[in-house]
Amino acid sequence: MKSDIQIAQEAVMEPIGAVAQRLGLAEEQLIPYGRYKAKVDHRLVKAMADKPDARVILVTAISPTPAGEGKTTTSVGLADALHRMGKKVILALREPSLGPVFGVKGGAAGGGYAQVVPMEDINLHFTGDLHAIGAANNLLAAMVDNHIYQGNALNIDPRRVTWKRCVDMNDRQLRFITDGLGGKVNGTPREDGFDITVASEVMAIFCLATDLKDLKERLARIVVGYTYAGEPVTAGQIGAAGAMAALLKDAFDPNLVQTLEHTPALVHGGPFANIAHGCNSVIATKLGMKLADYVVTEAGFGADLGAEKFLDIKCRMAGIAPAAVVVVATVRALKHHGGCPKEQLGVPNLEYLEAGSANLARHVENMQKQFGMPVCVAINAFPTDSAEEHQFLRDYCAGLGVPCALSEVFAKGGEGGLELAEDVLGILDRRPVHFTYADDLPVADKIRAVCRNIYRAKEVVFSAAAQKQLRELADAGYDKLPVCIAKTQYSFSDNAKLLAAPDGFTMTVRELRLSAGAGFVVAVMGSIMTMPGLPQKPAAEGIDVDENGVISGLF
Ligand code: ADP
Ligand code: MG
Repeated sequence: MKSDIQIAQEAVMEPIGAVAQRLGLAEEQLIPYGRYKAKVDHRLVKAMADKPDARVILVTAISPTPAGEGKTTTSVGLADALHRMGKKVILALREPSLGPVFGVKGGAAGGGYAQVVPMEDINLHFTGDLHAIGAANNLLAAMVDNHIYQGNALNIDPRRVTWKRCVDMNDRQLRFITDGLGGKVNGTPREDGFDITVASEVMAIFCLATDLKDLKERLARIVVGYTYAGEPVTAGQIGAAGAMAALLKDAFDPNLVQTLEHTPALVHGGPFANIAHGCNSVIATKLGMKLADYVVTEAGFGADLGAEKFLDIKCRMAGIAPAAVVVVATVRALKHHGGCPKEQLGVPNLEYLEAGSANLARHVENMQKQFGMPVCVAINAFPTDSAEEHQFLRDYCAGLGVPCALSEVFAKGGEGGLELAEDVLGILDRRPVHFTYADDLPVADKIRAVCRNIYRAKEVVFSAAAQKQLRELADAGYDKLPVCIAKTQYSFSDNAKLLAAPDGFTMTVRELRLSAGAGFVVAVMGSIMTMPGLPQKPAAEGIDVDENGVISGLF
């Protein structure tokens, strides 16, 4: 089997103008970035307001394991399968961050014969959106510190500046820093720190804004810190919102690329799925809903985190309702949930599979019963799977009352996704999302609703610090925002070791963080990483470029 990058480099891409033409885009609506990438004018969403919306197909998964699930790969392959069937389909995916590319995870453009291309560009810099987001974030940081330096008319307490600088790199050295050193002319000394760009609130805002006006208003609402009297200070008060939006103007237009099979793909925005909501930009999803009849999109992590936030945050704010939800599972990952030791994941074993399938059942039940969505299951096939194991899962899903298809898109591209595409077309429906909580519920009750109804926690405890923050949020008028829960992705609970389908557990909210611009409150359960580090052997060590500019080692 060839590596992902080999397959991607052998692809014969269509000029991006040809892909755009098939979508009915006029030349003046396209802003080409070289031959195979372009931006599409986001104002098209408004201009096409009268056109009926496409059906949105959400791809989500079981709780992630080190054994891998393949949501992006399945999304790409499903879109290619629908494309083969003659459907007018477009993908909407997140854009990769350099942190994971050079760290452990590698690229994020799909895998095998189900990839978006040009793979190297998408994974490295792409059209520069992440740099623009970093620049907007850091402009605000510079203006906050300058405000303090220039006399501090707003009385900002330098010990309570919450706005951090950011960089799109895994760099643990920058997590906690002291800056403003060197005496009076060089700023005000204070403790500070960097987040990775994709964890910044600017990224979350960028992905939830519906136009440039909304973007600017959200940026203005960012809380950068607190005064000595404890009052929140916003980016609007600092006077930064207009310039930040100006820096983001070009980035805000969604990026158009293609799959290996020339299916159009919008790859735009990529917020973390812990501190933020973990899916591509609203503007790209909405653009796709105008340009095609079907939009295939992915939400990060497992369905308890990614799909919950997609539905309760993104769909709530943007007025979107998916027509189908695909839950991706693999035999290997389910065996991991069933307690199978790592070395035996490739050995057929129905007992481990059966024990672990409870995880799949729980996610399916949540999507179906809690959110009221039409659901089907995709088994992302691995070479080590046995026919008996696939049959077991088909029977298991029949027992759950949901269609189940074997997806072989990694090995075969769109052809390997035809059975899944048939299942998806068979369940499509127009139903409103049953949100987990009502808009006007206080933050604490919203958190309890997600923990009890989606995670199945018995009890939710708020630390003393979290209780104090709840009171502060209420005093400042922020206690009716949706909640974004930051917990381990490996378990339904806040304990990464509780695999499969645990219940009866207690969850602890340690801390609350306000993302006023994005429009949600982050509830931190367990430790939350907003600046990852590189592993002992970073993927970067294996990445190279030759004298012809051909890149190797990306995966
Ligand atoms: P996710 O979106 O869930 O994080 P990806 O689709 O990015 O997952 O896949 C994660 C990794 O697993 C990628 O490197 C991809 O190439 C690989 N992968 C996915 N599906 C398969 C498969 N069926 N067989 C082998 N490798 C796969
Ligand atoms: Mg993915």
